[in-house]
Amino acid sequence: MSKYQVLLYYLYVPLEDPKSFAAEHLEFCKSINLKGRILVANEGINGTLSGLTEDTEKYIAHMRADDRFKDIFFKIDPAEEQAFKKMHVRPRPELVSLSLHDDINPLELTGDYLSPSEFKEAILDEDTVVIDARNDYEYDLGHFKGAVRPDIRSFRELPQWIRDNKEQFMDKRVVTYCTGGIRCEKFSGWLVREGFKDVGQLHGGIATYGRDPEVQGELWDGAMYVFDERISVPINHVNPVIVGKDWFDGTPSERYVNCGNPECNRQIICSEENEAKYVRGCSHECRVHERNRYIPENNLTVDEWQARIEALGETFVAPVVNQ
Ligand SMILES: [Zn+2]
Repeated sequence: MSKYQVLLYYLYVPLEDPKSFAAEHLEFCKSINLKGRILVANEGINGTLSGLTEDTEKYIAHMRADDRFKDIFFKIDPAEEQAFKKMHVRPRPELVSLSLHDDINPLELTGDYLSPSEFKEAILDEDTVVIDARNDYEYDLGHFKGAVRPDIRSFRELPQWIRDNKEQFMDKRVVTYCTGGIRCEKFSGWLVREGFKDVGQLHGGIATYGRDPEVQGELWDGAMYVFDERISVPINHVNPVIVGKDWFDGTPSERYVNCGNPECNRQIICSEENEAKYVRGCSHECRVHERNRYIPENNLTVDEWQARIEALGETFVAPVVNQ
């Protein structure tokens, strides 16, 4: 057995007083040395946690003993160390937001649940459109073969993107997927309400698909983006390939950094070499931005900064920097 485990789970379930629940739950998680992020809302709970295997097992037992949470399905990954630095439990108005005036309750309206093998069949079916319900930077690290990549940086932009591109999918069977399944519960419900006739969702998400003994992650290209310190995890255990491409030169890479400009913060894939060459800026504007974090983090002088920018054939005008 591995020394540590990472848990990923969610459950849509009516929850009263998320604020006091969050405070109590935080104390409990801290008492068994867990790290991670849990969101609670009137509509349910969503968490990703890491801890010593014995402590994560205590957590699972604690949740199973609670009638509200006994149906939670935990996705469990072995780990070498903690995947988070801190422990947070936060009350929120919604677990995931599509920015809808009239939100979807997945307990009332959601797409058909597909098992990993049913989902695999759907990918191979020419009359089915597979839509990735995640953000563009998640897709770019890895995705199902042939899946549609919505051009969005946040989940709340997804409904508008679908409306703008509706004619491509409207008459087809549509199936959708996300990391652990929570986003698709809402998104697939929204697709049904929007008038799509035949809507399916990958039950348990990519995380479950990668662990399924039958499909073993086949037809997944690249790695899966995760919102913890691991950043990416393998999914395809049959014939894995790298699809991540360096933002600057397009060479295969799975290394993510945030753009050095804190006002941009775009997630970009790049090698260590290109990060240095482009001072971690996704664009010229970000490279010369006065708050570019790469500069102080690497103790670059203004002259050194200028030299790197000019080596790219770009013009450097020294910003006023507080170093
Ligand atoms: Zn940028």
